[in-house]
Amino acid sequence: MAKFVLIGSGLAGGLLAGYLGRRGDEVELYERRADPRAGNFVGGRSINLALSTRGIHALEQLGIADQVLEHSIPMRGRMIHEKSGDLHFAPYDVDPKKCIHSIGRGALNTVVIDAALRHPSVRVRFNQRCTGVSLDTPAVHLLNAQTQETHRASGDAIIGVDGAFSAVRQSLREKLAEFDYDESYLAHGYKELTMPPAPDGSWPMEKNALHIWPRKSFMMIALPNPDASFTCTLFWEFKGRRSFASIKTDDAIRRFFEEEFTDAVPLMPTLLDDFHGNPTGSLVTIRCAPWYYRGKVALVGDAAHAVVPFYGQGMNAAFEDCVVLDECLERFASDRQHAFAEYYRRRKANADALANLAVQNFIEMRDKTASRLFRAKKKLDHFLEATLPGTYLPLYTMVTFTRIPYAHAERRARLQDLVVYTILIVALAGTFALLAWAM
Ligand SMILES: Cc1cc2nc3c(=O)[nH]c(=O)nc-3n(C[C@H](O)[C@H](O)[C@H](O)COP(=O)(O)OP(=O)(O)OC[C@H]3O[C@@H](n4cnc5c(N)ncnc54)[C@H](O)[C@@H]3O)c2cc1C
Repeated sequence: MAKFVLIGSGLAGGLLAGYLGRRGDEVELYERRADPRAGNFVGGRSINLALSTRGIHALEQLGIADQVLEHSIPMRGRMIHEKSGDLHFAPYDVDPKKCIHSIGRGALNTVVIDAALRHPSVRVRFNQRCTGVSLDTPAVHLLNAQTQETHRASGDAIIGVDGAFSAVRQSLREKLAEFDYDESYLAHGYKELTMPPAPDGSWPMEKNALHIWPRKSFMMIALPNPDASFTCTLFWEFKGRRSFASIKTDDAIRRFFEEEFTDAVPLMPTLLDDFHGNPTGSLVTIRCAPWYYRGKVALVGDAAHAVVPFYGQGMNAAFEDCVVLDECLERFASDRQHAFAEYYRRRKANADALANLAVQNFIEMRDKTASRLFRAKKKLDHFLEATLPGTYLPLYTMVTFTRIPYAHAERRARLQDLVVYTILIVALAGTFALLAWAM
């Protein structure tokens, strides 16, 4: 059995430790933050997330899906809030049982770390920041955040599960001439805001929905929490006439919210405190290649492929990485380099496809969800899905409710659109020709 040193016990790190522990491998997991199970969880950064089929499948493989879902709130569709205050509910799927689940990052992190630690060969060390990797040894250099002592940990392989700003990936960049790297930032940032429970402790808005206030170039969304509160996230331009940079005073912030999110403002008593107190996050897409170095170093999750959050798939994709890596390690048990190469081959095109889909979905969410045409297209999608079961699958359904590889889903959706729009155009042209002939 091999010894793996994992860097980062975020969402995917804890899960991957569980997978490796189940195989009987020795795992040392180092995390720069304090133990989230001791209530040290830091808010202000996507407190809750949408968990869907790919992520649930990965949790099921370790037998912890039910435990996670206990802490979650099902969301059956999008609740669109127009500027007028009018509401429209658009179900995610023709099958009302298909839903995504709002889950707290802290609760999920706790469950996966506890599951990993059930395996005696897994150890987790907190407050340990990786400062670099010696690729060939392989070994990681660590700094204890409490004592400032440095030390080194070595193993048969190092896996960087240390998120979008990965230190392990940085070492690959510095030391491998052939390492490709690309990062691109959106012109928008995000800020989390709280909507507490109603005074009687009930839900201030429809509980089983993902709420969206689409406003063309920006938007706010809200996901429910188990304590009847909602976590709202404003996605807004960094710069411009109306932006994070230009709207800063209490009056200006309040005026902006009252103009744009009229129905939400009375439900957000701590709006100004949240706005000033919570950080403004940036939204980055990171593509890099390759995701491994020999059989010695590999990248998993956001460290390999950070995507913007608009398809609600970053964590789900990171969990899917863990499933695929586990399958590859099983299949090429005696050749880790081959296992890493196969994992990379199976995941890279899919991560790239997801990166594109996630950016496109930002435009769909903030702009198109408000339009009648969009709602009509969704109804057509659901009609075709019900009429042609198994043959026609809307893109959202494939990404969210199946495990069809992302790149395959993207291609299939393009083909379906081509066929459907061609049929519609031919049918419309035929109707007009018939009418013209009849007159
Ligand atoms: C606003 C927002 C909303 C999102 N919503 C969704 C959603 O609804 N659904 C979804 O699927 N995804 C969502 N995501 C994406 C999701 O958060 C990420 O894809 C997911 O967290 C990736 O998991 P990870 O384990 O790879 O990285 P992370 O969860 O970021 O974990 C990385 C861990 O590594 C640690 N670390 C970092 N550097 C070091 C170091 N040098 N040494 C030691 N430890 C280190 C960090 O402290 C952290 O614990 C969202 C993201 C954002 C920003």
